Amino acid sequence: MLLGTAPPERRKPKMPKPTAEPPAMREGDCPFCERTVLVYEEPPRCPLCACPLDDTRMRPFVFPSERQAEMD
Ligand SMILES: [Zn+2]
Repeated sequence: MLLGTAPPERRKPKMPKPTAEPPAMREGDCPFCERTVLVYEEPPRCPLCACPLDDTRMRPFVFPSERQAEMD
């Protein structure tokens, strides 16, 4: 019985791929739903009714925390 002859095989921990830059979240008004929706698709599309949204009517969505940081 041989013990301690070979070091235990070291397993490299699986490194998660560095996440690519997430698509910028934007918000816009859907003329069909008549409400403000968050859009993260390109081209912009309403997540509720899947209708295409006017790119020019979109505005960048800023998380409240980031907004606050900017004001400080
Ligand atoms: Zn919609």
